Amino acid sequence: MSSFAFRLIAWQRSHGRHDLPWQGQDAYRVWLSEIMLQQTQVATVIPYYQRFVAAFPNIAALAAATEDEVLAHWSGLGYYARGRNLHKAARIVAERFGGEFPRRFEDIVELPGIGRSTAAAICALAWHEHRAILDGNVKRVLARYCGIEGWAGEKKIEEQLWQQAESLLPPPCRGRAGVGVKLLSSCDSTPILTFPLQGGRDDSIATYTQALMDMGATVCVRSRPRCAACPVQADCVAVQTDRTAQLPTPRPKKAVPERHAVFLLLMHGSDILLEKRPGSGIWGGLWCPPQFEDEVAARDWFLRSGMEARGGEKLKSFTHVFTHFKLHITPLKVELAHKPLRAGEPGSVWLEVGEALGAAIPTPVRKVLEQL
Ligand code: SF4
Repeated sequence: MSSFAFRLIAWQRSHGRHDLPWQGQDAYRVWLSEIMLQQTQVATVIPYYQRFVAAFPNIAALAAATEDEVLAHWSGLGYYARGRNLHKAARIVAERFGGEFPRRFEDIVELPGIGRSTAAAICALAWHEHRAILDGNVKRVLARYCGIEGWAGEKKIEEQLWQQAESLLPPPCRGRAGVGVKLLSSCDSTPILTFPLQGGRDDSIATYTQALMDMGATVCVRSRPRCAACPVQADCVAVQTDRTAQLPTPRPKKAVPERHAVFLLLMHGSDILLEKRPGSGIWGGLWCPPQFEDEVAARDWFLRSGMEARGGEKLKSFTHVFTHFKLHITPLKVELAHKPLRAGEPGSVWLEVGEALGAAIPTPVRKVLEQL
Protein backbone atom coordinates (compact mmCIF):
# COMPACT_ATOMS: atom_id res chain seq x y z
CA MET A 1 0.00 0.00 0.00
CA SER A 2 1.27 3.51 -0.71
CA SER A 3 1.02 6.88 0.98
CA PHE A 4 -1.76 9.38 0.28
CA ALA A 5 0.39 11.60 -1.97
CA PHE A 6 1.90 8.66 -3.85
CA ARG A 7 -1.49 7.15 -4.61
CA LEU A 8 -2.97 10.46 -5.69
CA ILE A 9 -0.08 11.18 -8.04
CA ALA A 10 -0.26 7.70 -9.56
CA TRP A 11 -4.04 8.00 -9.89
CA GLN A 12 -3.84 11.44 -11.52
CA ARG A 13 -1.40 10.18 -14.15
CA SER A 14 -3.78 7.44 -15.25
CA HIS A 15 -7.26 8.73 -14.32
CA GLY A 16 -7.02 12.48 -13.84
CA ARG A 17 -7.92 15.28 -16.26
CA HIS A 18 -5.19 16.12 -18.76
CA ASP A 19 -6.99 18.17 -21.39
CA LEU A 20 -8.07 21.30 -19.52
CA PRO A 21 -7.07 24.33 -21.61
CA TRP A 22 -5.05 25.97 -18.80
CA GLN A 23 -2.99 22.88 -17.92
CA GLY A 24 0.73 23.30 -18.56
CA GLN A 25 0.18 26.99 -19.41
CA ASP A 26 1.97 30.06 -18.04
CA ALA A 27 1.28 31.66 -14.66
CA TYR A 28 -1.15 34.21 -16.17
CA ARG A 29 -3.40 31.48 -17.55
CA VAL A 30 -3.13 29.37 -14.40
CA TRP A 31 -4.08 32.43 -12.32
CA LEU A 32 -7.03 33.26 -14.61
CA SER A 33 -8.33 29.69 -14.47
CA GLU A 34 -8.01 29.55 -10.67
CA ILE A 35 -10.03 32.75 -10.31
CA MET A 36 -12.70 31.63 -12.80
CA LEU A 37 -12.97 28.22 -11.11
CA GLN A 38 -13.81 29.75 -7.72
CA GLN A 39 -17.49 28.88 -7.12
CA THR A 40 -17.84 27.78 -10.77
CA GLN A 41 -17.61 24.39 -12.44
CA VAL A 42 -15.04 23.47 -15.11
CA ALA A 43 -17.62 22.95 -17.89
CA THR A 44 -19.02 26.47 -17.35
CA VAL A 45 -15.57 28.05 -17.11
CA ILE A 46 -13.99 26.62 -20.30
CA PRO A 47 -15.81 28.80 -22.91
CA TYR A 48 -15.38 31.94 -20.76
CA TYR A 49 -11.70 31.16 -20.28
CA GLN A 50 -11.17 30.67 -24.00
CA ARG A 51 -12.93 33.91 -24.96
CA PHE A 52 -11.08 35.78 -22.21
CA VAL A 53 -7.56 34.67 -23.26
CA ALA A 54 -8.43 35.36 -26.90
CA ALA A 55 -9.37 38.96 -25.95
CA PHE A 56 -6.61 39.43 -23.33
CA PRO A 57 -3.76 37.07 -24.29
CA ASN A 58 -1.35 38.37 -21.64
CA ILE A 59 -1.13 40.51 -18.52
CA ALA A 60 -0.20 43.62 -20.53
CA ALA A 61 -3.37 43.31 -22.63
CA LEU A 62 -5.51 42.81 -19.53
CA ALA A 63 -3.91 45.75 -17.72
CA ALA A 64 -4.46 47.99 -20.77
CA ALA A 65 -8.17 47.10 -21.08
CA THR A 66 -10.94 49.18 -19.49
CA GLU A 67 -12.95 47.72 -16.62
CA ASP A 68 -16.00 47.72 -18.90
CA GLU A 69 -14.20 45.55 -21.48
CA VAL A 70 -13.09 43.10 -18.79
CA LEU A 71 -16.54 42.87 -17.21
CA ALA A 72 -18.18 42.40 -20.63
CA HIS A 73 -16.06 39.23 -20.98
CA TRP A 74 -17.02 38.20 -17.45
CA SER A 75 -20.72 38.85 -18.04
CA GLY A 76 -22.75 35.74 -17.14
CA LEU A 77 -20.01 34.11 -15.04
CA GLY A 78 -21.22 35.78 -11.82
CA TYR A 79 -19.29 36.92 -8.74
CA TYR A 80 -18.13 40.02 -10.61
CA ALA A 81 -15.75 41.12 -7.85
CA ARG A 82 -13.50 38.36 -9.26
CA GLY A 83 -13.35 40.12 -12.65
CA ARG A 84 -12.77 43.55 -11.10
CA ASN A 85 -10.01 42.21 -8.82
CA LEU A 86 -8.38 40.36 -11.72
CA HIS A 87 -8.22 43.61 -13.65
CA LYS A 88 -6.83 45.56 -10.65
CA ALA A 89 -4.24 42.83 -10.04
CA ALA A 90 -3.14 42.88 -13.70
CA ARG A 91 -2.51 46.63 -13.42
CA ILE A 92 -0.46 46.09 -10.24
CA VAL A 93 1.56 43.33 -11.94
CA ALA A 94 2.15 45.60 -14.94
CA GLU A 95 3.31 48.49 -12.74
CA ARG A 96 5.23 46.71 -9.97
CA PHE A 97 6.52 43.60 -11.70
CA GLY A 98 7.01 44.86 -15.25
CA GLY A 99 4.15 42.70 -16.52
CA GLU A 100 5.78 39.43 -15.34
CA PHE A 101 3.58 37.44 -12.97
CA PRO A 102 5.41 37.39 -9.61
CA ARG A 103 7.13 34.18 -8.49
CA ARG A 104 7.09 34.71 -4.74
CA PHE A 105 4.09 33.42 -2.77
CA GLU A 106 4.27 36.52 -0.54
CA ASP A 107 3.89 38.81 -3.57
CA ILE A 108 1.14 36.70 -5.18
CA VAL A 109 -1.02 36.52 -2.05
CA GLU A 110 -0.92 40.33 -1.76
CA LEU A 111 -2.67 40.79 -5.13
CA PRO A 112 -6.41 41.66 -5.08
CA GLY A 113 -8.70 38.63 -5.16
CA ILE A 114 -5.98 36.08 -4.35
CA GLY A 115 -6.17 34.21 -1.04
CA ARG A 116 -3.83 31.68 0.55
CA SER A 117 -5.17 28.67 -1.34
CA THR A 118 -5.27 30.37 -4.76
CA ALA A 119 -1.73 31.74 -4.32
CA ALA A 120 -0.54 28.25 -3.32
CA ALA A 121 -2.27 26.67 -6.33
CA ILE A 122 -0.55 29.13 -8.69
CA CYS A 123 2.83 28.45 -7.02
CA ALA A 124 2.30 24.68 -7.24
CA LEU A 125 0.91 24.50 -10.78
CA ALA A 126 2.97 27.23 -12.47
CA TRP A 127 6.21 27.21 -10.46
CA HIS A 128 6.22 23.65 -9.00
CA GLU A 129 6.63 25.04 -5.51
CA HIS A 130 5.59 22.71 -2.69
CA ARG A 131 2.58 24.47 -1.19
CA ALA A 132 -0.71 23.12 0.17
CA ILE A 133 -4.07 24.17 -1.27
CA LEU A 134 -7.42 24.15 0.49
CA ASP A 135 -10.30 25.09 -1.77
CA GLY A 136 -13.88 23.88 -1.27
CA ASN A 137 -13.30 20.54 -3.01
CA VAL A 138 -10.10 19.83 -1.10
CA LYS A 139 -11.82 20.63 2.21
CA ARG A 140 -14.40 17.97 1.37
CA VAL A 141 -11.79 15.35 0.43
CA LEU A 142 -9.70 15.96 3.56
CA ALA A 143 -12.68 16.16 5.93
CA ARG A 144 -13.70 12.70 4.72
CA TYR A 145 -10.28 11.11 4.34
CA CYS A 146 -9.10 12.30 7.76
CA GLY A 147 -12.55 12.09 9.43
CA ILE A 148 -12.63 15.75 10.52
CA GLU A 149 -15.99 16.83 11.93
CA GLY A 150 -17.25 20.41 12.14
CA TRP A 151 -18.13 23.09 9.60
CA ALA A 152 -15.08 24.22 7.61
CA GLY A 153 -16.25 27.85 7.92
CA GLU A 154 -15.21 27.73 11.60
CA LYS A 155 -11.68 28.99 12.18
CA LYS A 156 -10.52 26.02 14.25
CA ILE A 157 -11.86 23.44 11.78
CA GLU A 158 -10.29 25.28 8.87
CA GLU A 159 -6.99 25.32 10.78
CA GLN A 160 -7.18 21.53 11.27
CA LEU A 161 -7.81 21.08 7.56
CA TRP A 162 -4.82 23.31 6.69
CA GLN A 163 -2.64 21.23 9.03
CA GLN A 164 -3.69 18.04 7.27
CA ALA A 165 -3.26 19.64 3.84
CA GLU A 166 0.31 20.61 4.80
CA SER A 167 1.18 17.26 6.33
CA LEU A 168 -0.08 15.26 3.33
CA LEU A 169 2.02 17.15 0.78
CA PRO A 170 4.57 15.16 -1.17
CA PRO A 171 8.04 16.31 -0.09
CA PRO A 172 10.25 18.04 -2.65
CA CYS A 173 12.13 15.41 -4.67
CA ARG A 174 15.80 15.18 -3.92
CA GLY A 175 16.44 12.07 -6.00
CA ARG A 176 18.13 11.87 -9.37
CA ALA A 177 16.29 11.07 -12.59
CA GLY A 178 15.31 7.43 -12.63
CA VAL A 179 16.24 6.95 -8.99
CA GLY A 180 12.96 7.97 -7.39
CA VAL A 181 11.79 9.85 -4.38
CA LYS A 182 10.60 8.87 -0.94
CA LEU A 183 7.18 9.86 0.25
CA LEU A 184 5.73 9.74 3.72
CA SER A 185 2.42 10.99 5.01
CA SER A 186 1.38 11.66 8.58
CA CYS A 187 -2.36 11.18 8.09
CA ASP A 188 -2.05 7.54 7.05
CA SER A 189 -0.12 4.81 8.76
CA THR A 190 1.75 3.63 5.70
CA PRO A 191 5.52 3.32 5.55
CA ILE A 192 7.84 5.23 3.25
CA LEU A 193 7.49 4.48 -0.47
CA THR A 194 9.12 5.66 -3.63
CA PHE A 195 7.98 6.83 -7.06
CA PRO A 196 10.09 7.75 -10.08
CA LEU A 197 10.82 11.30 -11.17
CA GLN A 198 9.20 12.25 -14.49
CA GLY A 199 11.91 12.88 -17.05
CA GLY A 200 14.27 13.95 -14.28
CA ARG A 201 11.99 16.90 -13.36
CA ASP A 202 10.12 17.23 -10.08
CA ASP A 203 6.57 17.86 -11.25
CA SER A 204 5.13 15.87 -8.36
CA ILE A 205 3.56 18.90 -6.67
CA ALA A 206 1.78 20.06 -9.84
CA THR A 207 0.45 16.53 -10.43
CA TYR A 208 -0.51 16.15 -6.77
CA THR A 209 -2.33 19.50 -6.72
CA GLN A 210 -4.19 18.64 -9.91
CA ALA A 211 -4.99 15.21 -8.43
CA LEU A 212 -6.63 16.76 -5.38
CA MET A 213 -8.71 19.04 -7.61
CA ASP A 214 -9.67 16.16 -9.91
CA MET A 215 -10.52 13.88 -6.99
CA GLY A 216 -12.81 16.50 -5.47
CA ALA A 217 -14.50 17.21 -8.81
CA THR A 218 -14.93 13.67 -10.13
CA VAL A 219 -14.63 11.07 -7.33
CA CYS A 220 -15.09 12.53 -3.84
CA VAL A 221 -18.11 14.50 -5.01
CA ARG A 222 -20.59 16.25 -2.72
CA SER A 223 -23.30 13.60 -2.71
CA ARG A 224 -22.66 9.91 -3.27
CA PRO A 225 -18.86 9.89 -3.56
CA ARG A 226 -17.52 7.21 -5.91
CA CYS A 227 -15.46 5.50 -3.22
CA ALA A 228 -14.95 2.30 -5.24
CA ALA A 229 -12.96 4.36 -7.77
CA CYS A 230 -11.01 6.29 -5.13
CA PRO A 231 -7.25 5.70 -4.82
CA VAL A 232 -7.28 6.31 -1.04
CA GLN A 233 -10.36 4.33 -0.11
CA ALA A 234 -8.37 1.72 1.84
CA ASP A 235 -7.58 4.10 4.68
CA CYS A 236 -10.31 6.72 4.32
CA VAL A 237 -11.72 7.42 7.80
CA ALA A 238 -15.16 8.34 6.45
CA VAL A 239 -15.43 4.94 4.75
CA GLN A 240 -14.06 3.06 7.75
CA THR A 241 -16.57 4.72 10.07
CA ASP A 242 -19.44 4.77 7.57
CA ARG A 243 -19.70 8.58 7.60
CA THR A 244 -19.31 9.52 3.92
CA ALA A 245 -22.84 10.98 3.96
CA GLN A 246 -22.23 12.96 7.18
CA LEU A 247 -18.85 14.45 6.22
CA PRO A 248 -18.03 17.18 5.61
CA THR A 249 -20.26 18.70 8.29
CA PRO A 250 -22.61 21.13 6.51
CA ARG A 251 -22.88 24.83 7.32
CA PRO A 252 -25.37 25.31 10.22
CA LYS A 253 -28.78 25.99 8.71
CA LYS A 254 -29.96 29.60 8.64
CA ALA A 255 -32.99 31.01 6.88
CA VAL A 256 -31.90 32.57 3.57
CA PRO A 257 -33.01 36.22 3.53
CA GLU A 258 -35.31 37.22 0.67
CA ARG A 259 -35.32 40.65 -0.97
CA HIS A 260 -37.37 42.28 -3.70
CA ALA A 261 -36.36 44.55 -6.56
CA VAL A 262 -38.11 46.26 -9.45
CA PHE A 263 -36.19 46.81 -12.69
CA LEU A 264 -37.57 49.82 -14.57
CA LEU A 265 -37.07 49.12 -18.26
CA LEU A 266 -37.25 52.56 -19.87
CA MET A 267 -37.56 51.96 -23.60
CA HIS A 268 -37.60 54.25 -26.60
CA GLY A 269 -38.14 52.16 -29.69
CA SER A 270 -35.61 49.35 -29.33
CA ASP A 271 -33.29 51.43 -27.12
CA ILE A 272 -33.09 50.92 -23.36
CA LEU A 273 -31.68 53.09 -20.59
CA LEU A 274 -28.97 51.43 -18.49
CA GLU A 275 -27.10 52.82 -15.49
CA LYS A 276 -23.64 51.88 -14.28
CA ARG A 277 -23.73 50.49 -10.74
CA PRO A 278 -21.30 51.72 -8.08
CA GLY A 279 -17.94 49.89 -8.03
CA SER A 280 -18.70 47.85 -4.88
CA GLY A 281 -21.72 45.80 -3.83
CA ILE A 282 -23.69 43.39 -6.00
CA TRP A 283 -23.09 43.74 -9.73
CA GLY A 284 -20.53 46.45 -8.97
CA GLY A 285 -19.41 48.27 -12.13
CA LEU A 286 -22.01 46.50 -14.32
CA TRP A 287 -24.80 48.07 -16.39
CA CYS A 288 -28.38 47.62 -15.12
CA PRO A 289 -31.78 49.26 -15.59
CA PRO A 290 -32.78 51.69 -12.79
CA GLN A 291 -33.62 49.53 -9.75
CA PHE A 292 -36.13 50.16 -6.96
CA GLU A 293 -37.30 48.37 -3.83
CA ASP A 294 -40.90 48.10 -5.01
CA GLU A 295 -43.39 49.27 -7.63
CA VAL A 296 -44.53 52.26 -5.57
CA ALA A 297 -40.96 53.61 -5.37
CA ALA A 298 -40.49 53.00 -9.11
CA ARG A 299 -43.74 54.78 -9.97
CA ASP A 300 -42.99 57.78 -7.67
CA TRP A 301 -39.54 58.17 -9.22
CA PHE A 302 -40.98 57.97 -12.72
CA LEU A 303 -43.67 60.60 -12.00
CA ARG A 304 -41.05 62.96 -10.55
CA SER A 305 -38.70 62.43 -13.50
CA GLY A 306 -40.97 64.35 -15.88
CA MET A 307 -40.78 61.55 -18.45
CA GLU A 308 -43.84 60.79 -20.51
CA ALA A 309 -45.07 57.21 -20.92
CA ARG A 310 -46.75 56.00 -24.09
CA GLY A 311 -47.48 52.51 -22.77
CA GLY A 312 -46.14 49.87 -20.46
CA GLU A 313 -46.44 46.37 -19.08
CA LYS A 314 -45.26 44.19 -16.24
CA LEU A 315 -43.01 41.36 -17.45
CA LYS A 316 -42.73 37.95 -15.80
CA SER A 317 -41.18 38.09 -12.31
CA PHE A 318 -38.34 35.71 -11.43
CA THR A 319 -35.94 34.93 -8.61
CA HIS A 320 -32.15 35.21 -8.73
CA VAL A 321 -30.30 33.28 -6.02
CA PHE A 322 -27.12 34.74 -4.54
CA THR A 323 -24.91 32.94 -2.02
CA HIS A 324 -26.41 34.80 0.93
CA PHE A 325 -29.89 35.86 -0.20
CA LYS A 326 -32.61 35.48 -2.80
CA LEU A 327 -33.66 38.42 -4.93
CA HIS A 328 -37.20 38.43 -6.38
CA ILE A 329 -37.14 40.64 -9.46
CA THR A 330 -40.13 42.29 -11.15
CA PRO A 331 -39.34 43.93 -14.51
CA LEU A 332 -41.62 46.88 -15.42
CA LYS A 333 -41.40 47.97 -19.03
CA VAL A 334 -42.28 51.57 -19.87
CA GLU A 335 -42.39 52.83 -23.45
CA LEU A 336 -41.45 56.49 -23.52
CA ALA A 337 -42.91 59.09 -25.84
CA HIS A 338 -39.52 60.88 -26.02
CA LYS A 339 -35.97 60.18 -24.96
CA PRO A 340 -35.44 62.28 -21.83
CA LEU A 341 -32.53 64.62 -21.16
CA ARG A 342 -31.52 62.19 -18.43
CA ALA A 343 -29.87 60.13 -21.18
CA GLY A 344 -26.95 62.56 -21.16
CA GLU A 345 -26.15 62.11 -17.46
CA PRO A 346 -22.83 60.52 -16.61
CA GLY A 347 -23.17 56.87 -15.58
CA SER A 348 -26.23 56.26 -17.77
CA VAL A 349 -26.46 55.25 -21.39
CA TRP A 350 -29.05 54.45 -24.06
CA LEU A 351 -28.22 51.25 -25.89
CA GLU A 352 -30.01 49.29 -28.55
CA VAL A 353 -31.12 46.01 -26.89
CA GLY A 354 -28.81 43.86 -29.05
CA GLU A 355 -25.87 46.10 -28.17
CA ALA A 356 -26.82 46.02 -24.47
CA LEU A 357 -26.64 42.20 -24.57
CA GLY A 358 -22.95 42.52 -25.50
CA ALA A 359 -22.19 44.96 -22.66
CA ALA A 360 -21.06 44.21 -19.09
CA ILE A 361 -24.44 43.20 -17.66
CA PRO A 362 -25.30 40.65 -14.94
CA THR A 363 -27.23 37.45 -15.71
CA PRO A 364 -30.68 38.64 -14.47
CA VAL A 365 -30.46 41.74 -16.72
CA ARG A 366 -29.50 39.50 -19.64
CA LYS A 367 -32.54 37.35 -18.86
CA VAL A 368 -34.82 40.39 -18.97
CA LEU A 369 -33.28 41.85 -22.15
CA GLU A 370 -33.71 38.53 -23.91
CA GLN A 371 -37.47 38.81 -23.30
CA LEU A 372 -37.73 42.24 -24.97
FE1 SF4 B 1 -13.88 10.49 -0.63
FE2 SF4 B 1 -14.76 7.98 -0.73
FE3 SF4 B 1 -12.25 8.57 -1.39
FE4 SF4 B 1 -13.00 8.69 1.13
S1 SF4 B 1 -12.94 6.87 -0.15
S2 SF4 B 1 -11.78 10.20 0.06
S3 SF4 B 1 -15.10 9.44 0.91
S4 SF4 B 1 -14.12 9.21 -2.45
